[in-house]
Amino acid sequence: MSDKSDTNRTITRRQFARTTAFGLGVAPIFGRASLPLIAPERRRLPDSDKLGIALVGLGSYSTWQLAPALEQTGRCKLAGIVTGTPSKAASWQEKHPELKGHVYSYETFDRIADDDAIDIVYVVLPNSMHAEYTIRAARAGKHVICEKPMAVSSAEAQQMIDACDEAGRRLYIGYRLHFEPHNLEAMRIGREAVFGKMKYVQAEFGFRIGDPTQWRLKKALAGGGALMDVGIYALQAARYVTGEEPVAVTAQEYKTDPVKFAEVDETINWQLTFPSGCVANCSTSYATGQHRLFASAESGWLQLRPAYSYSGIAGETSKGRMDFPQVNQQALQMDGMAQSIMTGSELDADGREGLRDVRIIEAIYESVRTGRELSLDAEFPIRRNR
Ligand code: NAD
Repeated sequence: MSDKSDTNRTITRRQFARTTAFGLGVAPIFGRASLPLIAPERRRLPDSDKLGIALVGLGSYSTWQLAPALEQTGRCKLAGIVTGTPSKAASWQEKHPELKGHVYSYETFDRIADDDAIDIVYVVLPNSMHAEYTIRAARAGKHVICEKPMAVSSAEAQQMIDACDEAGRRLYIGYRLHFEPHNLEAMRIGREAVFGKMKYVQAEFGFRIGDPTQWRLKKALAGGGALMDVGIYALQAARYVTGEEPVAVTAQEYKTDPVKFAEVDETINWQLTFPSGCVANCSTSYATGQHRLFASAESGWLQLRPAYSYSGIAGETSKGRMDFPQVNQQALQMDGMAQSIMTGSELDADGREGLRDVRIIEAIYESVRTGRELSLDAEFPIRRNR
């Protein structure tokens, strides 16, 4: 069904603020296209009631996104760090004196079990290290947020889920776009069939990668190339804008620089078929910039462009421009996860969701290798079994 009332059902900035941001204690800003303001004091929990987060791996994402975001959260706070670099330990403590006594190396990591200030371990390491540190964190009795991709194989992802289940601890994946209003609106339009049944999706995320010596180009550390790193966003988008799980996949790989990309994929195009008959054409690349989600349904369409960046996300539908605030996605994500722990509520961005993506990624690589269409149900089952 699509008529004028659909426009009225579109979430406004104010409604989004009421249902999401205010609920999480982070204030949106209106009329400014920059990162949000710090939540007003009254919307924050007192420091003593916040959950403590330890960041494991102090690379660029921890340093430039997560640590600043933790200064804007209302329900969690920086409470520990794990690093193999003594100079980083020193400079982080200088900037955050509250870290004194809560600094660990990879060797002393397991002592985190005795650190009551730390409730959540946030794994921000190269992909192949996610499983080990998630499992060790669960065994130390901590909840875990693990960065995407959850793991480099579905077997590892399953072990991570099992370890957290056995320890009675929650496992979340750093899917920040589950907390971003334009992407949330795309999910809603698809799932509520605002423009009727979804028929066709195009999802692309790629960028030109620099330094040829970095871990992202080494299979042993990255598990794969562009697909694992950023293609996963396009895969997520195709799944969340349809609200369906794909039943079949075909994929093709292309390389323009076989030396730089000797170990991992440079560009992969793939196609997903969904039970309703909807198809998704997806693409990822380490050689070109691509940044779009387009979805067309029976009586309308939506487009986000850019769709997956930290800020500046913009969207429109066949009915007009989307009007949502720019938010600090990482702050909302960590607050949402802290809230889920505090209230015992479920979040979509959990370990089982991470596993489904890793399974489909495995199927995409298998289709590239064999050149054939794979039936996901028969060969890479991704049933929902909460
Ligand atoms: P980075 O290279 O900047 O940082 C990696 C960190 O791991 C560094 O502190 C490094 O010292 C440490 N490390 C420990 N052992 C290592 C080893 N053997 N080799 C290399 N580094 C080692 O990487 P990053 O960009 O911060 O990415 C870290 C993780 O976060 C990745 O899984 C990535 O996919 C994810 N990430 C997610 C987002 C997002 O938007 N959700 C954005 C960027 C990165």
